[in-house]
Amino acid sequence: MSEVLKPDLCVIGAGSGGLSVAAAAAAMQVSCVLVEKGEMGGDCLNYGCVPSKALIAAGHAAHTMRSAGRFGLQAVEPRVDMERVHAHIHGVIAAIALNDSEARFTSMGVKVIRVAGKFTARDCLEAGGYQIKARRFVIATGSSAVPPPIPGLDQVRFLTNESVFDLKQLPPRLVVIGGGPIGLELSQAFRRLGSEVTVLEAARALSREDPELAATAIARLRAEGVDIREGVKIARIEARGSGARILLQGVEVEEPVDASHVLVAAGRAPNVNNLGLEQAGVEFERRGVKVDARMRSSNRRIYAIGDVAGSAQFTHAANYHAGLVIRSALFRLPVRMQPHLVPRVTYTDPEIAVAGWTEEQAREKHGIVHVYRWPFAENDRAQAARESHGHIKVVTSKKGVILGAGIAGPHAGELIMPWQMAITRAMKIGEMASFVSPYPTLSEVSKRVAVTHLQKGLSNPWLPRMLAFMRRFG
Ligand SMILES: Cc1cc2nc3c(=O)[nH]c(=O)nc-3n(C[C@H](O)[C@H](O)[C@H](O)COP(=O)(O)OP(=O)(O)OC[C@H]3O[C@@H](n4cnc5c(N)ncnc54)[C@H](O)[C@@H]3O)c2cc1C
Repeated sequence: MSEVLKPDLCVIGAGSGGLSVAAAAAAMQVSCVLVEKGEMGGDCLNYGCVPSKALIAAGHAAHTMRSAGRFGLQAVEPRVDMERVHAHIHGVIAAIALNDSEARFTSMGVKVIRVAGKFTARDCLEAGGYQIKARRFVIATGSSAVPPPIPGLDQVRFLTNESVFDLKQLPPRLVVIGGGPIGLELSQAFRRLGSEVTVLEAARALSREDPELAATAIARLRAEGVDIREGVKIARIEARGSGARILLQGVEVEEPVDASHVLVAAGRAPNVNNLGLEQAGVEFERRGVKVDARMRSSNRRIYAIGDVAGSAQFTHAANYHAGLVIRSALFRLPVRMQPHLVPRVTYTDPEIAVAGWTEEQAREKHGIVHVYRWPFAENDRAQAARESHGHIKVVTSKKGVILGAGIAGPHAGELIMPWQMAITRAMKIGEMASFVSPYPTLSEVSKRVAVTHLQKGLSNPWLPRMLAFMRRFG
């Protein structure tokens, strides 16, 4: 006979979204059961954000050594010990893992059950011999890499985000299938550590991004030796020793690309299988669980958040969803998910950061818009650090309300924050010009782009007349 638990909340999945809900519930002394079948911390901690940023940091250090000549220092080719890079990556995971651990959540009063959970009815989840009949459920089961339907792919060994951070030897010849953010971030990191890297992208690399911002990052990757091939179709893949030969569909002959390792980074699918969603009356589609603006599924007791809810697949999106669910499920406050208020960063070097709408989206929604740009080449701090590639671009409505901001350049992910705040608060671009920025900082690009808006005012024919009038008073 299984034990019946009746908590206020039951969360399925202890990743970015699930842990945020459980932590908030615990802080408010709301009874909560957390069900996790794999590693605490989910994809972000174990197979996503954290290891990828640790790998990128190692690549960045290698690049700094190699490119020290620009500062008058002797450039050196780094000797890369991949076993130690592996230890660095997993050391970073271990340092952060304490925050997400079962012990910590148990000490906070959350009941953690470390098995797969499955709904057996609209109001019941079964997990490890427990029947959980919670007042509210939150599905936070994340997403997984999906191998594309390429003939022969199932016959070769390939890496995904779940295995690539386990490498203890540097891939001599890495082929990355997929030129999205994950594919390009990892390509650049491996290239900087010394791998030969080819990216095969069926459409356009970083296709979600504004092409002029994407171009800055893509050009840099190419200059560093990443062979990015866009608009290619893979005819098939054949095993070659421990590696693979990838045959690209050519006009007459198939062009071969040889790989010691293949990394698949060509899309992700929501984890909706084996959850008993049908028994729970929870509707889902290819993109994930169908939710309303409150993140509530077709079963009003059950919410879905994070990657499984099918919108922006980011840790901060999952955290944002978690906040909405806490307010809606526990306090019955009115909430509304606004997808355009979720910023995004691609951690290539230079980074690409976006808040709000892109220029194309803004034009679709608002018709006439104004676009302002300012290059890092005009920023003294960027010049001093010899990192002056890229620019900031801001899109406003006719009345100057900020609709979107995009930055391709050094530390773009840090620089986007004031724009994210401005967009959330529906601020006008003139307000961004009214702050004093410390000199010399990269942040000055934000002030300078806002000032370009004021320059339009300076061409107003009334201005000289008004100045002439003021002169009369001495
Ligand atoms: C390589 C890579 C790099 C990334 N980098 C970034 C980044 O820099 N910034 C960023 O914001 N995002 C990044 N992401 C995306 C980010 O990792 C995800 O958006 C985030 O982890 C989603 O959180 P989640 O809570 O929805 O799912 P997850 O964190 O994946 O957690 C889901 C959890 O549910 C568990 N689970 C699944 N099914 C069940 C079940 N039936 N029963 C019990 N448990 C179950 C899983 O084991 C997992 O632990 C990256 C992703 C990848 C792959």
